[in-house]
Amino acid sequence: MKFALLSLMVQISMNILAFGYSWLVLYAKFRKEAAIQPKDYKEDVFPNRIPLISLNILLIWLFAFSSFYVFQDFFILEGFPGIGVFVIQFLMFFLIDDAWFYLMHRSFHEFPFLMQHIHKRHHTASKPFPLDYMYVHPLEWMLGMIGPALGIVAIMLVYGQMYAWPLWIMIMFRNLHEMQAHSGLRATWTRYTVLLGTSDHHDHHHSKLKGNFGSITRIWDLIFGTEIEEKRKAKS
Ligand SMILES: [Zn+2]
Ligand SMILES: [Zn+2]
Repeated sequence: MKFALLSLMVQISMNILAFGYSWLVLYAKFRKEAAIQPKDYKEDVFPNRIPLISLNILLIWLFAFSSFYVFQDFFILEGFPGIGVFVIQFLMFFLIDDAWFYLMHRSFHEFPFLMQHIHKRHHTASKPFPLDYMYVHPLEWMLGMIGPALGIVAIMLVYGQMYAWPLWIMIMFRNLHEMQAHSGLRATWTRYTVLLGTSDHHDHHHSKLKGNFGSITRIWDLIFGTEIEEKRKAKS
């Protein structure tokens, strides 16, 4: 029970942060001069998106708590892994989840039926704000959880158990990256990380509705030739 509750608290804290960041962007005009797209947000954008975002938050709380409760014996709660184990478990989780996201996201765009009935909802946001990473059709939201699940299964197959800390840090990293990718604000230091998917990278996907299907990284877009370059060359 303790592991499931702590994991849920990590997720809840990220959701609270996403609300705070969205308030800063929408109402406090935080870094307005760094907006990637010059147009203003519609006044009712926040109240319009909140019902679906709230439903998805509820879904992830239920899914995270129930699955971590059922599978709690597979996780090591006490102690921190050695740095080698931490890095390998983190990278396995990270790369498998990222590959799944690319495959799923590109499929949504390649198959008109999936775009029309599922992914179109997320693209209502042509100029996204931080909470928009959860403004997706609930089915897309649930399918997105397959990536982390596959990452955890792969770690279990190699190690038998997974430390809680790589999981929690990955949950934090994944949420922070998604809120930044949807912030609508130009990337700062992340533009120098070469392979990380920046806010410019994903914002361009929203404004052009094609290319840049990767989330955390640009790796899969570079390998499969689906990257759109223009925004990365834009002047900051
Ligand atoms: Zn898309
Ligand atoms: Zn998006």
